[in-house]
Amino acid sequence: MNKPLNAVINIDVKPAVLVERLSGRYICKNCGATYHKLYNPTKVPGTCDRCGGHEFFQRDDDKPATVKNRLKVNIEENTPLIDFYQKRGLLFTVNGDQDIDLVFADVQAVLKKTQLACRHGLTVFKRVDLCYNVAVCAEGLPSPHFRV
Ligand SMILES: [Zn+2]
Repeated sequence: MNKPLNAVINIDVKPAVLVERLSGRYICKNCGATYHKLYNPTKVPGTCDRCGGHEFFQRDDDKPATVKNRLKVNIEENTPLIDFYQKRGLLFTVNGDQDIDLVFADVQAVLKKTQLACRHGLTVFKRVDLCYNVAVCAEGLPSPHFRV
């Protein structure tokens, strides 16, 4: 794959929201049915839809403390990457706190924004590299032949 990187999309979600999303899973002790307190709760609170059981548990992986720790490590690892792409003008941040359809629409808008058409009718990408703009089409032709 010798293609240039055109855009890096950072779907930004507040840590507190992520913890809530990622630690919401719980499981019926009796039958193993899986629920999520936000996205897939039991129809009757505290009662398993499948077996009528009342006891639930969380896997260690899903517990808030574990999720928080995992996120902390993740943020530490990702911050240098975000800075790296930001400096090169390749980073686009999308608000991940909003509804999934809106996240998707924003991602599409970013992709559209980074796309240009070259005179060959190819869809190509505008690549911002360090301090100057370089656009390269799929044939590797340089920027002057672009209609922008
Ligand atoms: Zn059950």
